[in-house]
Amino acid sequence: MSIVIDGSLAFDTIETPEIRMEKIVGGSCAYSVLAASYFTDPKIVAVVGSDFPSEVIELFQSRGVDTRGLTIEKGKTFHWEGRYGHDPNQRTTIKTELNVFQDFKPELIPDYRNADIVFLGNIDPDIQEDIRLQLDSPKLVAMDTINLWINIKRDALLKVVRDVDMFFANDEEVKMLTGENNLITAGKKLLEMGPSFMIVKKGEHGALLLNKDFVFGTIAFPCENVVDPTGAGDSFGGGFLGYLDKVKSFDEKHLRRASVYGSVMASFTIEKFGIERLKSLTLEQIEQRYSEFSKLMSF
Ligand code: AMP
Repeated sequence: MSIVIDGSLAFDTIETPEIRMEKIVGGSCAYSVLAASYFTDPKIVAVVGSDFPSEVIELFQSRGVDTRGLTIEKGKTFHWEGRYGHDPNQRTTIKTELNVFQDFKPELIPDYRNADIVFLGNIDPDIQEDIRLQLDSPKLVAMDTINLWINIKRDALLKVVRDVDMFFANDEEVKMLTGENNLITAGKKLLEMGPSFMIVKKGEHGALLLNKDFVFGTIAFPCENVVDPTGAGDSFGGGFLGYLDKVKSFDEKHLRRASVYGSVMASFTIEKFGIERLKSLTLEQIEQRYSEFSKLMSF
């Protein structure tokens, strides 16, 4: 099988109660392709400016990522600034500068069009829809988003939601989209809007996978030293879908396991700033944490 992943590649400025990090490499796509790359060889669709470090593109390539769909434009790379308080689940966006994403019109190369799995990672919903319309006959199309797009492009976003199979959204986003406070009710409402599967991410409280027949809950790995929660959601999505691409199955057993692998990848991401932790994991470390999850969740 094959998987195409889009989303932002960014410079992130991140402030936590302890430290401020200026313009480190991030973006939804950076996290999700790196997380997926431990299971499969993802194909990337994104744009960066001429200021984006070539070493990061080389890092993607060294991890088996197909970067033919990466456009390098004259101009500045996407920049996002976020601030965390003492509660890592509470984040404020200070700044979003789209820069080269402003006029990005992706054109998929032919072998990207017949991907089996497509992850429309968090970016402008008009770009997500543009990509979706270029696909031949994917087996699974998943999407993610962020509060900004719900606020400023709600209708365009709901149009994408209507036509995807799987929607990853966090607790705040599902509440914003449905007006429901109960996450199960909100998840079910979103299932009625189009997707067959909803994944409601709850930060340090784990994630819920819902469809019309079952609900599965995964805990988040108990981590006492959360350095930077940025990218946890994208790593979850990348790990989840990368695993499905590897096992070539969408049955319930594999969807449950995919949720756990998603949580495993997210739990590594938050241990260091930016993509640092995802650069140098080993398959042994991933499998070991997966078995720890299995012990933690068994009763
Ligand atoms: P997460 O913590 O999983 O929600 O994702 C954080 C990443 O999303 C950061 O690396 C940001 O660069 C990126 N990001 C923030 N806002 C947006 C946006 N509006 N569109 C696309 N990516 C964004």
